[in-house]
Amino acid sequence: MNDCIFCKIVKGELPSRKVYEDDDILAFHDIYPRADTHIVFIPKSHISSADHIDEGNVGVVAKIFATIPGVMKELEITNGYRVVTNVGEDGGQTVGHLHFHAIGGNKLKADFC
Ligand code: 5GP
Ligand code: ZN
Repeated sequence: MNDCIFCKIVKGELPSRKVYEDDDILAFHDIYPRADTHIVFIPKSHISSADHIDEGNVGVVAKIFATIPGVMKELEITNGYRVVTNVGEDGGQTVGHLHFHAIGGNKLKADFC
């Protein structure tokens, strides 16, 4: 999508601090980290939110979840972390391109992200 920040990051039109990339997935440091380590995992193809996951596109979501552990280990997050996706306005989603926050590196509060 033309006006989507994360599509622009995928296309290289906006900079990001990438930590992982393959044909389908990109992961980069969140510009406003909420923990010592805060990585955003996205599908390269535009999916608006977790509310738009279906049988046709769930493969990339599975791939993201299969990728997160290795990336977090690579970043030396060895004592646990949290994976969160915010959905829609009430869910606190501010960027309309499906993404999973992986946050860790310090003891997280017990509430939701
Ligand atoms: P949401 O609020 O939709 O769950 O998460 C969007 C996340 O994207 C936020 O944590 C925000 O800090 C991050 N973000 C917004 N714009 C940019 C950007 O241009 N670059 C990076 N790296 N992160 C961004
Ligand atoms: Zn997008």
